[in-house]
Amino acid sequence: MPHASADEIHAALAAVTRAASVCQSVHRSLVTQDTITKKDKSPVTVADFASQAIVSITLRDALGAIQLVGEEDAADLRGDDAAATLDKVAAHVGDGLDRAASPDEVLAAIDAAAVDPEPPTGRFWTIDPIDGTKGFLRGDQYAVALGLIEDGRPILGVLGCPNLEAGGRKGLLMGAVDGQGTTFSPLDGSADLTPAHVDPVDSPAGGRFCESVESGHSDQGSSAKIAELLGITEPPYRIDSQCKYAAVAKGDATIYLRLPTRPGYVEKIWDHAAGAACVTCAGGTVTDIEGKPLDFTQGRTLQNNRGIIATNGKFHDQVVSAVHSVLKG
Ligand code: AMP
Ligand code: MG
Repeated sequence: MPHASADEIHAALAAVTRAASVCQSVHRSLVTQDTITKKDKSPVTVADFASQAIVSITLRDALGAIQLVGEEDAADLRGDDAAATLDKVAAHVGDGLDRAASPDEVLAAIDAAAVDPEPPTGRFWTIDPIDGTKGFLRGDQYAVALGLIEDGRPILGVLGCPNLEAGGRKGLLMGAVDGQGTTFSPLDGSADLTPAHVDPVDSPAGGRFCESVESGHSDQGSSAKIAELLGITEPPYRIDSQCKYAAVAKGDATIYLRLPTRPGYVEKIWDHAAGAACVTCAGGTVTDIEGKPLDFTQGRTLQNNRGIIATNGKFHDQVVSAVHSVLKG
């Protein structure tokens, strides 16, 4: 069985911690009432690129040649009109690495991650530098999500969730290693690791489900009907990003439903690799809406799957059946 090495685990935790800290500092310096009012996306652009560059550089410094599949490529940063943005990105990358980073180094690091997994069944990393950009801009939940995949399965996942609480403080770091379980700690390293376990409840009626804040990302009308069918009375926990997987992994929610809103949408690997590892290593189950395992051998997307059902693993089939009857009905 493939497994993650101690060096890989260590490098992944360091990379996500640094990237999450830079995202927070971009938020502090660039997200203002004015950018929110104007729905200006430029802060997310700077944080997205800086986060991907930091993860790319940190993993390579620690591990040498690796394959990293990232959401972003640097094309938009290369034009003359992007020079000011590139300078901001490079400054934030330098802060995160605690050394100077040139614009050229940053461009190369981002582009080194703009690849397709080759071979798709091999060993590769995948990064969502800011998952939940809408939550980031609102000052709500978002995550830096890094997964290591081998043979089409995530074997290591790290989520940096700067606005989730851990140990009474803001900022949670969650790590999952196949065969070793899931743990979490405050993102600032101020306390020890705590093991994460899924909700022990053994019937869906006693649980609660989480879903996307954005109705365009998950069909909230159908999830309400599914909850009713399962006897769930708690209102949905709506939260952006892979923080939903973190919530299921540590038992703050019992079920995560991601139900397709339109026929052509295909889920991306970086939106699920780290989160799915966190839930499965904490004792839960993750499938698509038909109950099939997620297939990470298809390149940058989960094209053999549709939607997501993550549960505490105690009644997964019952949830799959309820989803089936509401979506077909
Ligand atoms: P969430 O925070 O759960 O709403 O998910 C954010 C992620 O949704 C983004 O990273 C996008 O990749 C993804 N996304 C974008 N459009 C859709 C869609 N139509 N259906 C499902 N996910 C989407
Ligand atoms: Mg995402």
